[in-house]
Amino acid sequence: MKSARGGLLKGILRCPVCGGETTEDGSTIACLSCGTAYGETDGLPDLIPPDASSLKLSEREHYSENVDYYLEMHSTWCGSPFYRHYHRSFLANFRSLPAGSLILETGCGLGHDGLELLRAGYRVIETDIAPGQLAQARELHLAAGYADVSAHLLADAERLPFASASLDGALAVASLHHLPDPLVALGEMRRVLRPGGMLVLGTEPNNWQNRTIYPVGKAFLKAVRCVKGGPVGGEEMVSEADKLTEGFSAPQLASLLREAGFGAIELQPAGYLSAAVFFLSTELSQMVGRPLRLFPLERVFIPLDEILGKLPLFSRYPWHWNAAARAIA
Ligand SMILES: [Zn+2]
Repeated sequence: MKSARGGLLKGILRCPVCGGETTEDGSTIACLSCGTAYGETDGLPDLIPPDASSLKLSEREHYSENVDYYLEMHSTWCGSPFYRHYHRSFLANFRSLPAGSLILETGCGLGHDGLELLRAGYRVIETDIAPGQLAQARELHLAAGYADVSAHLLADAERLPFASASLDGALAVASLHHLPDPLVALGEMRRVLRPGGMLVLGTEPNNWQNRTIYPVGKAFLKAVRCVKGGPVGGEEMVSEADKLTEGFSAPQLASLLREAGFGAIELQPAGYLSAAVFFLSTELSQMVGRPLRLFPLERVFIPLDEILGKLPLFSRYPWHWNAAARAIA
């Protein structure tokens, strides 16, 4: 466990059930207040509260069981100009933090954004609810030589196992909309950030697409399934939380951030036409069962999307949101 934790967690691990201080005995972490004991899953410290909801357990299972599918998808995504441009954009929000700052990523998945933070000189704590994904993230970071500056543990984003005001930055990429109560998760990230600490959200869906394009897309896939028979490509690869999500409008996201205790809130539009092409190529790839890449088209649209994001009406209706905000004391 020591090699995975790299000493970053020294003194800041708290019980996710009661917030009490913890003690370690071998591979067990125990709460000094309520006595709850936390063991390991697949060699990863498991700080997920024992009473996790069935939705969380279903997410844990979905993302762990389908890790090969997500690895394959990422191998296509990481070459996408849309994906690269907007991931670089949200990570750039951390530039004001000095090297060596301690950044938490919740819902880290396969750990590729965390790797970029490590390359930029930050110390990184990665948490996820799915052991299958987190194990991949740990492998990625250890293989790149970041064992001493990274830590990986299983945790619930709505009940973070860290002391208040113990971190400099927090990142959540395309994960806030998977949570039953985004306000609770944002409140937890605010709590663990020191006053003035930086929160960054990456590629959270805007809600208009969930009301327009996605239902049309789903109906289309259903029609194809009727003709073809059986599931269509990645159709079955949608997690329970993804089925429930609505995404966020600009006023909703800004108000959630304010209510959770953040200031200096900046909503950053992340993609219009380039995002639509990315979405279309992902869906088509799944339908035909092989990667269809429309990268040149994405590349052409990115500069146009950057201009659209600065126009008054358009700025409220990007495909996704990136966001940056500061924790208020
Ligand atoms: Zn406790």
